[in-house]
Amino acid sequence: MKSDIKLIDSKGKRLDGRKFDELRKIKIEAGVLHRAEGSCYLEWGENKILAAVYGPREAIPKHTQNPLRAIVKARYNMAAFSVEDRKRPGPDRRSREISKVISEALENIILTEKYPRASIDVNIEVLDAEAGTRCAGLTAAGVALADAGIPMKDIPASCAAGKIEDQVVLDLGKEEDNYGNADLPIAISPRSGEVLLLQMDGHLTEDEFNKALNLAINGCKIVSDIQKKALLDKYQPALEVD
Ligand code: ADP
Repeated sequence: MKSDIKLIDSKGKRLDGRKFDELRKIKIEAGVLHRAEGSCYLEWGENKILAAVYGPREAIPKHTQNPLRAIVKARYNMAAFSVEDRKRPGPDRRSREISKVISEALENIILTEKYPRASIDVNIEVLDAEAGTRCAGLTAAGVALADAGIPMKDIPASCAAGKIEDQVVLDLGKEEDNYGNADLPIAISPRSGEVLLLQMDGHLTEDEFNKALNLAINGCKIVSDIQKKALLDKYQPALEVD
């Protein structure tokens, strides 16, 4: 969408004062819900997200079971009060798409073959939304899965890069998402660098795409360090007592 809004000033600063390669502020807390096997509360800029993991448990209905591996059911939901205009409650096309891509990303990093016929359920509730919620949701899901003790190749980390006013930048905020030219959310397995999710909205040249991808991969690595710190904050004290 074209607009008269200036997204980058003459000094290269963005609307919220960030540089082109800066993330919004991220805060993560592991293990916030007592009923869930694993959980996470995450703030990313003004996004506020809860993730809760249940399972592995018998997949129901039975016909959804896979005799060779667990199925991963991620359910992304935006609360009615999470956006400016009240969102109609319940699933819609967008939340189904996000649930599907997150499920597929997680299936590729969880050791699903350890739990035949089981289901691993990952609930992602967006309480407050300000662009980038699929990345924030997937990041929270990664911490909640680790908190649940689900075996994974690595803890998935997610982040987006995009293009505003012909510049490639990291982690688009709300106005940047609304009035920018492109958004490239990705998720990776930080140790191997394997790409678990890659979507693109808008247009990028090949050169811009490569720049955005590298920027987003670096962003995922910063996100990964914050995820690990949140898990250490929860589990380190227990380890020290033992
Ligand atoms: P993401 O949140 O992963 O960036 P989108 O690009 O689809 O996904 O959405 C961008 C932002 O638009 C969301 O984070 C949210 O702030 C806003 N948004 C999405 N859906 C709605 C909706 N139904 N009503 C109002 N705002 C919405």
